Amino acid sequence: MEEAKNIAKTYDPQQVEERLYNEWMEKGYFRAEVDPDKEPFTIVIPPPNVTGQLHMGHALDETLQDILIRWKRMQGYSTLWLPGTDHAGIATQIKVEEMLRKEEGLSRYDLGREKFLERVWEWKHTYGNRIINQLKKLGSSCDWSRERFTMDEGCSKAVREVFVNLYEKGLIYQGNRIINWCPNCVTALSDAEVEYEEKAGHFWYIKYYVKDSDEFITIATTRPETMLGDTAVAVHPEDERYKHLIGKTLILPLVNREIPVIADEYVDKEFGTGAVKITPAHDPNDFEVGMRHNLPQIKVMNDDATINHHGGKYEGMDRYEARKAIIEDLTGAGLLLQTKDHVHNVGQCYRCGTTVEPITSKQWFVKMKPLAEAAIKVVKDGTIQFVPDRFSKIYLNWMENVHDWCISRQLWWGHRIPAYYCEDCGETIVSKKDITGCTKCGGKVIQDPDVLDTWFSSALWPFSTLGWPEETDDLNYFYPTSVLVTGYDIIFFWVARMIFSGMEHMKKEPFKYVFIHGIVRDSEGRKMSKSLGNGIDPLEVIEKYGADALRFTLATGNSPGNDMRFYWERVEASRNFANKIWNASRFVLMNLEINENKLPELEKLTLEDKWILSRYNNLVKEVTDNLDKFELGIAVQKLYDFIWDEFCDWYIELVKPRLYDKQSTSRLEAQYVLTYVLSNTLKLLHPFMPFITEEIWKHLPHEGESIMISAWPKYHEQYNFVEEEKQMSVIMAAIKSIRNIRAEMNVAPSRKAKLYVVTANVETFQKGKVFFERLAGASEVILSAQKEDIPEDAVSVVVEGAEMFIPLDDLVDREKEIERLEKEKQNLEKEVQRVNSKLNNHGFVSKAPAHVVEEERQKGQKYADMLAKVVERLKSLK
Ligand SMILES: [Zn+2]
Ligand SMILES: [Zn+2]
Repeated sequence: MEEAKNIAKTYDPQQVEERLYNEWMEKGYFRAEVDPDKEPFTIVIPPPNVTGQLHMGHALDETLQDILIRWKRMQGYSTLWLPGTDHAGIATQIKVEEMLRKEEGLSRYDLGREKFLERVWEWKHTYGNRIINQLKKLGSSCDWSRERFTMDEGCSKAVREVFVNLYEKGLIYQGNRIINWCPNCVTALSDAEVEYEEKAGHFWYIKYYVKDSDEFITIATTRPETMLGDTAVAVHPEDERYKHLIGKTLILPLVNREIPVIADEYVDKEFGTGAVKITPAHDPNDFEVGMRHNLPQIKVMNDDATINHHGGKYEGMDRYEARKAIIEDLTGAGLLLQTKDHVHNVGQCYRCGTTVEPITSKQWFVKMKPLAEAAIKVVKDGTIQFVPDRFSKIYLNWMENVHDWCISRQLWWGHRIPAYYCEDCGETIVSKKDITGCTKCGGKVIQDPDVLDTWFSSALWPFSTLGWPEETDDLNYFYPTSVLVTGYDIIFFWVARMIFSGMEHMKKEPFKYVFIHGIVRDSEGRKMSKSLGNGIDPLEVIEKYGADALRFTLATGNSPGNDMRFYWERVEASRNFANKIWNASRFVLMNLEINENKLPELEKLTLEDKWILSRYNNLVKEVTDNLDKFELGIAVQKLYDFIWDEFCDWYIELVKPRLYDKQSTSRLEAQYVLTYVLSNTLKLLHPFMPFITEEIWKHLPHEGESIMISAWPKYHEQYNFVEEEKQMSVIMAAIKSIRNIRAEMNVAPSRKAKLYVVTANVETFQKGKVFFERLAGASEVILSAQKEDIPEDAVSVVVEGAEMFIPLDDLVDREKEIERLEKEKQNLEKEVQRVNSKLNNHGFVSKAPAHVVEEERQKGQKYADMLAKVVERLKSLK
């Protein structure tokens, strides 16, 4: 095996990863084929933002997907991992605007819509592949020939098809409704795009006087500036305090407009003063009340949250300036009764953190109730399963209470809304194709200037990327997809919308499993963020330790749905694991004289061969079971334990005598078993650590071109050796106990000692003889059923089913040991004395803090225990 001996001395990921990745690409192993003889297994990637840079969250998400894909590919499925990027409306637009401002001093308005969009496309062509190239560094085995973009031709076609279909069914409508408005991004947001945070604020209590009367109603509000748009005050119809005022007129303070007192059951008598101001244009609940009572909507703010002409003297002020001025004026007019501190939930824009303003606005909406039905059913009946299951409750709760989805955004970058307005007859035309003339009167039309919410196109991702609305072979074969892997933070944004979209447009669920993972936090448990500066760049990790080490670290820490912490020490440990595998494999390769990978006849196998084969066989079953249940973290931990402990630390050590002994009749058998178990274990590890496993596997005797297209190992009942496993575990436990005693007694590894084994189980220990000699420092092993001819002062070790004795003189040099122990005894006595005098010192005990005294007491106990042991040992030696 010339090749085997050529394996590098140490493992250097830099030398291996890129070369192997290119090789896999060239051979086309990532390409998915429509193959009627195979079952498909499909994952669509959660498309990263085209502006994105790979962060730890992506690294985790992609690692989990690649593990599943590589595993299924080896199991013989026709696997498709479909990659792509998202145009990411707001994020990208802001990025390009920033660049224009910095580099050219231009705003998007200076350029105009068309020129600006040209610049965004240019930007996309230049930088859009950055994140794709970063994904490749991780080892992602995506089918890059099928790479998609949410604004490519096909996806755009799907978007228009869906918009028009839903519009024609009455499920998309345009309406003047209350929406969340970000004054900074100057666009509408959907409910899912608002993040709530508790903030300290105030309740201001304001007097609203009844017209021509001294009577007043007290109103409490957290946003006094909205009072400029009040069009009523509402009370509960049964509220005795206010019954007589219903139908009367109030004078709106500062504005001096007349507004009615109305009765509505929505008002909670017990809350605040039991009377609420109604501002239909600036509050979602008030909006509903306003609709019921036919109240006018007075919108008092501009798009940038400054006060408009309805605000009178406050016109032009920012909302917070206006708030301050209004409070001052109310105080001056004696209309402010009191101010109370109040903590309340404030909605913030998920992009920029600005407090959103609920306002009425003419926008496009998706009517959600009818669409939610099917999306609820498929999760309830288990057609789609969340992993872990607890997320299905969160999903269902959201879906059951879903509000209509505001889908229009006041941006330029995105899918333009395919609605046209006739300038002559006012007709609204929604069309799959671009049109220039009115279908009704032939007049000139203009297209709606807004674009669609980014998530409108990503909601179609599982089928738009497979060719829908065309009935392509890909769509027929790969849809529905198998698993969606994503973080819990986008269940509402994305997962929920893919589910109802799949049900509506494909009449079939978009995926069978939703595998949810948590986020990667820093070592202190904080979210990684730009502002904290605690983010860790996965590319830096890869450069230092290799992609395998990063993947292994992320997989090891993973349990479905839970957050994990990132520690550099763990990556180092993963790198050490890679080195351990490399060194063990190198040892195996250096000792191979065979060039076939096959198992010898089973009856030729020794005890340790059968033991490792049985352990390996068991590992195959367990790892496969764990992967079936999405327990990737457990699976990889088992692989680690098996490789590190059982294979490297035990089996290789156990077979060394056979490998080294050229006369051994079972030398070749050892080589076959080493090769078989190692190469198959590498297959099990391949999805987690694709590079190192491939590199080693290729040096081992093997069949086929690449480990990544080799067959996933299977469990074989005939390799299940229960009896041999039991025997080996007895021998291993005995060896461990002897090693422990020798370590305790400071016996040099080179010092050999006789070993007497008294056991009824002579057969097992007979088989273990050679191992005691090699691994437990035995110079000779004497087996007997009874305790006889054993020196009185022999050290005894008791294990299950046997008592073992080692003559003391074999282990230690009696005189020297006594001398050493005497010295230790003196030292310990001094320590005990020192602690005792401290504890007997009244001043110390009364003045020192309680925990310090307690620590001292524990120290004293520890020294006393150690001293007792030393005294005992001395006694046994004398
Ligand atoms: Zn914003
Ligand atoms: Zn017309």
